[in-house]
Amino acid sequence: MRLIITGPPAAGKGSIAPFLAKEYGILPISTGQMFREEIKKQTPLGLKLKVILDRGELVSDNLTNQMVEARLKKEDVKNGFLLDGYPRSINQAEFLDKFLAERNEKLDYVISLYLEEEIIIKRIVGRRICPKCGKLYNIYFTKPKFDEVCDLDGTALIKRSDDTEQIARQRIKIYEKQTAPLIEYYKQKGILISSYSGHKKVEDTFDLIKKQVIADDHNKI
Ligand SMILES: [Zn+2]
Repeated sequence: MRLIITGPPAAGKGSIAPFLAKEYGILPISTGQMFREEIKKQTPLGLKLKVILDRGELVSDNLTNQMVEARLKKEDVKNGFLLDGYPRSINQAEFLDKFLAERNEKLDYVISLYLEEEIIIKRIVGRRICPKCGKLYNIYFTKPKFDEVCDLDGTALIKRSDDTEQIARQRIKIYEKQTAPLIEYYKQKGILISSYSGHKKVEDTFDLIKKQVIADDHNKI
C-alpha cells in the first residue's frame, strides 16, 4: 500500500500515522523529519538545508524531490510507504507520479484529514507541556488534575510561544491555500479519501479511514 496523508495543523496526522503503518505493514516517511535528520548528521545536503531553513525559506521542489526519490529507492519501502509532508505542490505530485510510474508502481490513496477550525484552535492554543517530564496536556481536552500543573511531578506547565490563536489561524490559511490544488489533483485521479479527524479518540478517525479504504477496494473488484 502506498499512501499519502495530509491535513491542517493539529489534524492528528502524527497520531494516526502509526496506526496506518501497522495496519498496512508500511513505513511512515515524514519529509520534515528527513530534513531534520540530514541537518543533524551534517551531510552536504543537511548543510544546504540548514541555510535555507534558517533563512525561513521553503525548501525548493527540486531539492525535496531529489531527497524523496533517494528515500523511496531504498529496500525498506518496497512494500509501501506513508508519506507525510510531501507532496506540497503540483510539481512535486507530478514528480512522484512519474517516479512511481517508471517503477510500475502507483499511489493507492491520498488521505486528506479535515476538522472544524475551532477544534484545531483549541488543540493548538490549549496545548501544554511539562518541562520536567515532557508529558503533554490540553486544557480543553486532557486537563491536568490541578490547573496548569503536571499530574506526575507538580511542575508548572508551559505553553510554546507560537501556540497562539493568531499564528494557528495563519497556518490554517497557508495550509488551505497550498493544499487545495493538490486535493483537486488527487480527487480527479479518484484516489482521494477525505476523513473527518476531529474525534476525541484517534482510533475513531483510524476506523473511519479503514472503512473507506475497504469500501473503495470492494468497488474496484
Ligand atoms: Zn511532569
